Amino acid sequence: PYTGPSDADILAKRKAYLSPSLYHFYDKPLNIVDGKMQYLFDESGRRYLDAFGGIATVCCGHCHPDVVKSITNQINRIQHTTVVYLNHAIADFAEALASKMPGNLKGPKNLTVRWWGPPWFLNGPPNPTDLHMVVFFTNSGTEANELAMMIARLYTGCNDIISLRNAYHGNAAGTMGATAQCNWKFNVVQTGVHHALNPDPYRGVFGLDGEKYAKDVQDLIDFGTSGHVAGFISEAIQGVGGIIELAPNYLPVVYASIKKAGGLCIADEVQSGFGRTGSHFWGFETQGVVPDIVTMAKGIGNGIPLGAVVTTPEVAEVLTRRNYFNTFGGNPVCTAAGLAVLKVIEKEKLQNNAFVVGSHLKERLTALKDKYEIIGDVRGRGMMLGVELVSDRQLKTPAKAETLRVMEHMKELGVLIGKGGFHGNVFRITPPLCFTKDDADYLVDAMDYTFSKM
Ligand code: PMP
Repeated sequence: PYTGPSDADILAKRKAYLSPSLYHFYDKPLNIVDGKMQYLFDESGRRYLDAFGGIATVCCGHCHPDVVKSITNQINRIQHTTVVYLNHAIADFAEALASKMPGNLKGPKNLTVRWWGPPWFLNGPPNPTDLHMVVFFTNSGTEANELAMMIARLYTGCNDIISLRNAYHGNAAGTMGATAQCNWKFNVVQTGVHHALNPDPYRGVFGLDGEKYAKDVQDLIDFGTSGHVAGFISEAIQGVGGIIELAPNYLPVVYASIKKAGGLCIADEVQSGFGRTGSHFWGFETQGVVPDIVTMAKGIGNGIPLGAVVTTPEVAEVLTRRNYFNTFGGNPVCTAAGLAVLKVIEKEKLQNNAFVVGSHLKERLTALKDKYEIIGDVRGRGMMLGVELVSDRQLKTPAKAETLRVMEHMKELGVLIGKGGFHGNVFRITPPLCFTKDDADYLVDAMDYTFSKM
């Protein structure tokens, strides 16, 4: 049993010592003291079904025994910086990750790499035939996207980056520029980022016509830049933005425009990667494109801070111009977790589970839409689903207060879901990938009951 401080004590300390911008869900916030697979437990031992943990961090399930074992084995041996010495954990995870990347990203095997001098020349260049793809490890998604944007700028010699309205890419100086949601955007001076029309099938002006939205990117290149750009960054399904799956055929047209303008295409897979969409391992694959750079974080460490930037050897080479150093990015403990996660995804067929259970969940949520006028839209893929509440289906008036009420009530019924979207009126349903059909049914029954009482 839990013997730690009370909720009131924790809240008082948070108030006294922690960031005033730190927020929590629910009027009476939950004190989560234990987790097991798709369940969370509060201090009284009450169990909650976690339908939001997937986005927060967890891919395989809370405290998955294989992942915990890998982490504890590694930390009992050695935890250290990534640089300076050898350790097998980072190399093993990089190799396993490479096997998950689509062909073009692995780069030509016989590439001749230019090396830029000290200190790398001391060790000599790697054997070019060993090169497949290159991964840089970081500690978070923000850091991964910062690095990706810097690489694009270095590689192209251009500054202009195009991102989407309603995007979330991080909260440091550069990524804050690419982030485009008023709730999350601090208005510090940001240069070199242009925001394109969001290809939002539900609220966007062109509905499902991805090619029409893509024209806006071409216009930005033509009229907002020199005609040359550093790159384009987007999620395949906007997470924080309210589970918005980009309109079909959007990315192929945009990627072609960007490539023509000399830029690199960056896929932010921080939320949609690692099998979450069910149909594909990576979100970008749902649009049939291959990016130049892929970034990932969150679920890849199952709760352990880990991010990564994957690119071709040719692009990665720009970082040999100086020392690129990240003390803990890719450290032994975190990469041991990453490798364990990939193994669990394979062993437990979690991508397939995301497809099967996610499809069932979406079907049942869609059926609720026929029953309740307040549900304006049900969308997403696999275990990345959104339910948007509106008080008027024609006007699509965001039903923000109702969203909060339903969340509170579902918590009382033992189900935790997230929320997001520009107007804060979208449920984000992103469970750990081990979520079962029974869990899905329980979630929908709880939601159905809640709506019926409203
Ligand atoms: N990209 C996306 C798509 C995200 O959802 C987030 C986090 N919400 C980030 C980047 C930033 O990740 P982190 O919070 O780990 O810095």
